[in-house]
Amino acid sequence: MSFNDDVTLDTSQVRSGGGGSGGPGGLVVGGGLGGIVVLILALVFGIDPSQLPTGGSGQAAPGQVQAGGEVDPTAFQECRTGADANRSDTCRVIGTVNSVQAFWAGELPRYKREWQETPTVLYSGATQSACGTASNQVGPFYCPLDKSVYIDASFFQVLSTQFGADDGALAQEYVVAHEYGHALQDQLGLLGKAQQGGTGPESNGVRIELMADCLAGVWTQHASQVPDEDTGTPFLKPLTDADIESALSAASAVGDDRIQEAATGRVSPESWTHGSSASRQKWFLQGYRTGDLNQCDTFAVASVES
Ligand SMILES: [Zn+2]
Repeated sequence: MSFNDDVTLDTSQVRSGGGGSGGPGGLVVGGGLGGIVVLILALVFGIDPSQLPTGGSGQAAPGQVQAGGEVDPTAFQECRTGADANRSDTCRVIGTVNSVQAFWAGELPRYKREWQETPTVLYSGATQSACGTASNQVGPFYCPLDKSVYIDASFFQVLSTQFGADDGALAQEYVVAHEYGHALQDQLGLLGKAQQGGTGPESNGVRIELMADCLAGVWTQHASQVPDEDTGTPFLKPLTDADIESALSAASAVGDDRIQEAATGRVSPESWTHGSSASRQKWFLQGYRTGDLNQCDTFAVASVES
């Protein structure tokens, strides 16, 4: 129950996609996915920027992106207010997308930048993105080729049942805000850095992921404390320790070490792409406590681990 009941939701920022048209085995992203660890990593926070197709073969024309898709669009019509966002996962995604975008649109001019509106495609089963087939095997991701976030409607259940995150609202909101962190990185020209430097706890790829965790934390602070310009109320109610625990449980659940241990019984830091549970929690908290974009520069520190 974290949204203020009377905030207004804008469903135009979210499109429906999916409906299973991609069929089984539609995981085409990158072509280099092999082995259970990589597959599970992909499942958790979607596509590594380093796994993106480099040529034109994976690109769909903009009009194709939603081909064949349907999460029942009438479901969106029920998403009108913060009270709806507190009731339904779908409306909560929409409310979070609204809040995150309103925040960055207001924040970036302080840095002489302008936020470019970034849609979310909420799909069920599978849908086409310019980065390949999005499916519930991939998990939420940001596609820089069509500048959209993709979220599978069933992901939040996977997050709690398979990865042990709690099912609290802030855990879900953190996931959405993390993906919008990648959109911001793209707009700031940082996302390409992820492709340099391979894997491992201090790799560029991990630093990009931890920065996105920190940016999610920055949003969390503002969304719970700063009134929205349009409505005069913050999107989120003041956060409790339990809310923060919820976000941290999600950050922890998707740490590379936790996932590897669950999948293979051992931890191989050299193959990390997203960071350890501890570092993901650390960077989320850093953003949440400071509320300051500049405190999220994971490339400015010698080590991103504690
Ligand atoms: Zn990510």
